[in-house]
Amino acid sequence: MQKEYDHTALQTALQRWAEAGAPLPDDIRMSRKNVGEILKKLEPKIPSMQCAVAPSSFNPKEEHLCAYPRPLGWDWPSCAGLLQHFGGKGVLSRLPLFWQVESPLYRACQAAGSFIFLNDKANMPLGAEAVRSAEIGTVLTDLDDASAFSSFLLAKNYPLPEAWLIVHVAEHIPGELPFPLANSPSKIGQEVHVLPGVPILEQCSTLSDTKKPLFHRSSGYYWETEEKHTLITGPTEDPCPLIRFELSFLLEEHDECPCGQEIVRTVTLP
Ligand SMILES: [Zn+2]
Repeated sequence: MQKEYDHTALQTALQRWAEAGAPLPDDIRMSRKNVGEILKKLEPKIPSMQCAVAPSSFNPKEEHLCAYPRPLGWDWPSCAGLLQHFGGKGVLSRLPLFWQVESPLYRACQAAGSFIFLNDKANMPLGAEAVRSAEIGTVLTDLDDASAFSSFLLAKNYPLPEAWLIVHVAEHIPGELPFPLANSPSKIGQEVHVLPGVPILEQCSTLSDTKKPLFHRSSGYYWETEEKHTLITGPTEDPCPLIRFELSFLLEEHDECPCGQEIVRTVTLP
């Protein structure tokens, strides 16, 4: 059964690339290093595709930075779910603007009954004022910024937000959250993105309440395990899914969550 799914997931992904006019070899294997070059060949086709785009790297100075096509109208359901759990007040987004997640974030906020306040990372005083006086309930950002911004809030005697939604880069998932987040009374949701705005591991409300890096696999991916790596193919709803994209961790499986999904934790081997 597993083998049949494997075949279908890979073949479907290859077929999407061929249909987009940028066919790939059957044994294609993607990685952080080569994904930009592979996507470069697709770029001339993107203007005629019905799609949104995400950047192909978390590094805006990446040599081969280009566009990764995403489905139009993708509404970031994991984000919407946690925002609802956190109580649906305003969201202060400090994710870099070049991630281009404003449209899906807008739809997630709409679903959760929240509004968005975009805050440049460099402007911590404005963000701090917003947390204090603008009905901000959740700060959405990456781990480094969550650490720096929470330290800033504490140092300047600003209140901490009621909740954080922290996006981890796939290769940098911490075993535990750093101080002062770990000790803070704020609720904390976490998810893991393979490219900016492309979640692969996410949390339901029960897992976010643990404040631990325990996750559910995002839907739409086929996962394969190698000795020290994990390969993912998907997501299936993307116009040109990632194919056997190499991740530098293994997934350790835990019990089933009360929500019915399997709980996983990432393990990085030396
Ligand atoms: Zn769950």
